[in-house]
This record gives sequence, structure tokens and C-alpha cells, in this order.
Amino acid sequence: HKSTVVITGASSGVGLYAAKAFAQRGWHVVMACRNLEKAKDAAESVEIPQDSYTVMHIDLGSLDSVRKFVNDFRASGKSLDALVCNAAIYMPLLKEPQRSPEGYELTMTTNHLGHFLLCNLMLEDLKNSPATDKRVVILGTVTHNPDELGGKIPPRPDLGNLDGFAEGFKAPISMVDGKKFEPVKAYKDSKVCNVLTMRELHRRYHDATGITFTSLYPGCVADTPLFRNHYPLFQKLFPLFQKYITGGYVSQELAGERVAAVVIDPEYKQSGVYWSWGNRQKKDGKPFVQKVSPQASDDTKAERMWDLSEKLVGLA
Ligand code: NDP
Repeated sequence: HKSTVVITGASSGVGLYAAKAFAQRGWHVVMACRNLEKAKDAAESVEIPQDSYTVMHIDLGSLDSVRKFVNDFRASGKSLDALVCNAAIYMPLLKEPQRSPEGYELTMTTNHLGHFLLCNLMLEDLKNSPATDKRVVILGTVTHNPDELGGKIPPRPDLGNLDGFAEGFKAPISMVDGKKFEPVKAYKDSKVCNVLTMRELHRRYHDATGITFTSLYPGCVADTPLFRNHYPLFQKLFPLFQKYITGGYVSQELAGERVAAVVIDPEYKQSGVYWSWGNRQKKDGKPFVQKVSPQASDDTKAERMWDLSEKLVGLA
């Protein structure tokens, strides 16, 4: 019997290489993707054996689609041993917000609200699984943290008092703090919400379920398609800058192996923490538990974020 992991956004970048790493380690991967053809082609392109994966449809930018995915997963009869929330969009050049079918700003919906709903629904599936070691991993990023060099470049993430969420998060509101639309900040805010969600999942459910909840920053994976919506010149220079100036560059293979390790290896079985690697670009860079930003470690903010997100996704 193979263990099963669901990975969102496994059709490219970190998620694709994580899928490959899981398959190499004998797991079955449910690639939860919005474009089934692309996902299949991607799996073939990195030579994931056909019997090691199943592609299933999810559009994290639509809450109905997230619910449908969970139903489809249950109908497949598989049991769930781990969930990796990896999919994300980054749209730095947008002038106007895009919207989900519910009317919510799309970056926050895809990166945070969709995953928030998915985690909450799939807790049930994890609880029902007979496995003894179950884990949920949410991808974080250095840009969530203004205390670190990589997080200092403006605009800084700032959830404020989450007034935008409290007021319903529909037009004309587009930002969690209710302020003016800023697509780069929307991405960073969503990643702060990802870390807060992980910590709140841990606080609420770790003791009762034994599930390990973690987050990680795999390093700067500067040549994934995440930056496909940036200026072409940026796409060319950014990997070089990360390779030769900051030294933060990490290959997609290594980032994928790190995600699989955080889910499988005993040394990462510590709930409520955020993993990082020293000498990020080096294969043998040692993992360590990194302090998250002041905002991402604010328990009052975490609770408010949780309560408001529950309302927005229709759980409360
Ligand atoms: P990619 O753009 O390569 O991959 C993103 C994945 O998310 C793709 O598979 C994409 O699907 C999928 N996706 C986007 N929108 C949706 C949606 N609405 N529904 C379902 N799937 C969707 O990015 P990366 O691999 O670089 O990023 C993966 C994660 O790693 C993100 O959470 C990011 O924040 C994090 N990260 C990345 C870093 C980096 O340097 N690259 C650094 C730190 C963290 P499709 O193929 O159809 O577009």
C-alpha cells in the first residue's frame, strides 16, 4: 500500500518537482491542478512513472471548485496521508484586481482562501486515514518577512486590522487591509495568511489529531514560471541576481526534494514550525526552524484571520 499525497499546483515549478520527488520515494501523488492536459504533459516531461500519479481538477481561484475537488477525491476511494498547499499566482503588473466567481480578489483567493477551505475540508480525510504520521505543509516565502533581507523590498505585507476581509472582500474592496489595490502586496499578504493558517491549524488541531502542520521556505527558486507575469527583463535577470549576488538561488529539483522531505522525513516531524535551510543554495544546507515575521507570529491576528476567512469561504 502506497501513501498518498495531494499537491496543489503540481503542473509546474516547485509542485511538479515535489511530485517527482514523492514518486521517487514510493508515494502516490494526486496532482491537483487547474489544467489537466498541462499537468499530464508536465508529469511526463519530468518522467514521473504513470502508476505513481493521478491528475485531478481543482481551481483554487473558485471556492465551488475546491469543494468539488474534495468530493472527487473522496469518490476516488483513496485515503489521504498528506496535503501540500503549493499553488500560487503572482501578478505583479496588474493595474486592476481580478476576481474569483464569488467576487473576491483573485491572488488572495487562489493563494490563501482556496487553500484555507481545502485544509479545513481535508482535515476530515486526514483524520479518517489509518496512517500514523500525517502532515499538512503550506508553502511560505521569504517575502512574507520584512525582518529578512529578501523581505525588505517594498511593498511590505501588512494585513492591518483585516478590515477588507471584515467588510466582505468584494468590489470595490480588493486588499485584506481594505486599502488601495497593490498586486505585489496582495501576493505577500496572501503568503502571510498562509503562515498564519499553518500556525492556527497547529494550535487548533495538532493535539487532538496528531497531524503535523508545517510551512517552509525552500529557497529562491528563481527560474520557476511563478515570475511569468513579470517584465521579460526581470525574468532574465532575477535568476542571475539570485545565483550570483544574493546566493539564495535554489534549483527546482532541490526545492521539490525539500518539500517531499518535510512531509516524509522524521526530522521534520515538528508541528507549528516554519523550515528554512542554511546556505540555501547548497545541497547539504542544513534545515532549521526559522522564526516567522512578527505579523505572522501574532496570535490575535491569526485568530481574526481565521474567523474572517471562515466567513468568506462559507464555513461559518
Ligand atoms: P509556479 O508558477 O511554477 O507554479 C504555480 C502552480 O500553481 C502551477 O502549477 C499553477 O498552475 C498553479 N496554480 C496557479 N493558480 C492556480 C489555480 N487557480 N488553481 C490551481 N492551481 C493553480 O510557481 P512556483 O513553483 O515558483 O511556486 C510554488 C509555490 O512556492 C508558491 O506557493 C510560491 O509562493 C512558493 N514559493 C516560490 C518561490 C520561488 O522563488 N519560486 C520562493 C518561495 C516560495 P498552472 O501550471 O496551470 O499555471
